[in-house]
Amino acid sequence: MSTVKYPEVQNYIGGAFESNGQNKMDVHSPISGELISTMPLSSGSDLDKAVQAAEAAYPSWSETPVKERVQVFFRYKKLMEEHIQELAELVSVENGKTLGEATAEVEKSIELTEFACSMPQLIGGELMEVSKGVECRIEHKPLGVVASIAPFNFPHMVPHWTLPNAIALGNTMVMKPSEKVPISANRIAAMLKEAGLPDGVFNIVNGDKEIVEAICAHPGIKAVSFVGSTKVAQIVYKAATSTLKRCLALGGAKNHLIVLPDAHVDMTASNVVASMSGCAGQRCMAAAQMVGVGPVDHIIEKMIEEAKKIIPGENLGSVISKEAKDRIEGYITDAENAGATVLVDGRNWTVDGQEGGYYVGPTIIDHVTPDMAIAKEEVFGPVISIIRTKDLDEAIELENSSPYGNAAAVFTQSGGLARQVMERASAGMIGVNIGVPVPREPFSFGGWNDSKFGVCDITGKSSIEFWTQLKKTTTKWNADAKTNWMS
Ligand code: NAD
Repeated sequence: MSTVKYPEVQNYIGGAFESNGQNKMDVHSPISGELISTMPLSSGSDLDKAVQAAEAAYPSWSETPVKERVQVFFRYKKLMEEHIQELAELVSVENGKTLGEATAEVEKSIELTEFACSMPQLIGGELMEVSKGVECRIEHKPLGVVASIAPFNFPHMVPHWTLPNAIALGNTMVMKPSEKVPISANRIAAMLKEAGLPDGVFNIVNGDKEIVEAICAHPGIKAVSFVGSTKVAQIVYKAATSTLKRCLALGGAKNHLIVLPDAHVDMTASNVVASMSGCAGQRCMAAAQMVGVGPVDHIIEKMIEEAKKIIPGENLGSVISKEAKDRIEGYITDAENAGATVLVDGRNWTVDGQEGGYYVGPTIIDHVTPDMAIAKEEVFGPVISIIRTKDLDEAIELENSSPYGNAAAVFTQSGGLARQVMERASAGMIGVNIGVPVPREPFSFGGWNDSKFGVCDITGKSSIEFWTQLKKTTTKWNADAKTNWMS
């Protein structure tokens, strides 16, 4: 018998939680398969209401000086710190990642909020006397009502890629969380209210693709940010820009880790295995493909040792659903049938006491060839395939041939060879002896190629350009004017 662990997920509109209509969807924990809540499948009229609330809040919020706007985020950051354990437990239950990973996720939300708190220092604007008595000035002005659409893999952090910066910059927002993990967003809304965010500045409309389509078409929304798979990122980018909105759509990934024979064995093996298995491989920055250049068997031996220390249900979380587990295991079986060698096999795992959960163990597959599906498509599970190449040129060509371009990394002790990868890899985020090269604030996060559509990155300084428009003012005053009440 299932138990509902969390209250019903609700929409959050104009500062109030509200249930809508009849259409509900069940929310299950992937750890156990248990029913943990229900979520509304909202309609276009719910979105209209949320946009109206955001429009109503916009004049006052956008006119509030930035130094005052960020005070909300200073208080909000403190609340997150005080409640980190509770927030992390929720992330773990709804997403399936381990408590340690969930805690790290909330810590990242805190860091992202900290960055938003420094907005007054970052958007000071520019002023110059361009000719005698004539001044030009530039200011960052908000856009209006903006939307943020999130994926399942980081229920707390990905909303914080967008909401603190967009709102601190004076916009008001409608967020659509992933229907697979909608509970954390309700907690975020409650905490923002407690921190003093005025009603209507942040709103949530829950739902599935119907709400995403309505967001892209809505005339009241000025900009749309999206994080999810490449297929949907393309749909969203085309739909949002066809209604002349600004759009930034982050897509999927197939990250290549190039391992050279001179790489530090222990560090490389532990980094590669942690990158491919952390968050059960459900990270857009996860290692998906190792490119072994020349004789790297000694490193692969060590990777096997490391992978065997990772046990589902202990230090490895679940994947998001039964469909995900079946898809991941299908890729492994297809690769094996096509001639690859499964060195560590994560198929058919069950965890005692959590038989209804969706677990895949760490998996290392050697002698994968570029034509196999596992080499070309995003698997999004704790699986790494190894392709062997004779030299670095061939390895870089392989990386360059991927349609994606989120991250790439090189493991070597040679600065010169590392530099070749830094220069020639076709990816937005590069790691040297780092398996998950996520830039820390204030550096921006964003990929290239089919991993991102639109200009700007989603975090850091680059995101300021996405969430604002520049106002350029030129002034000239008559310095000889006689009517000067100040003197
Ligand atoms: P997804 O694309 O299935 O869903 C993302 C969002 O789009 C959800 O809110 C969902 O409701 C909505 N959606 C789904 N299908 C839709 C459709 N046909 N039309 C309109 N909207 C639709 O992604 P996911 O499975 O939730 O997340 C995993 C994916 O996200 C992976 O591909 C991963 O690489 C990617 N991701 C990328 C980044 C990045 O920074 N590039 C970060 C996190 C996740």
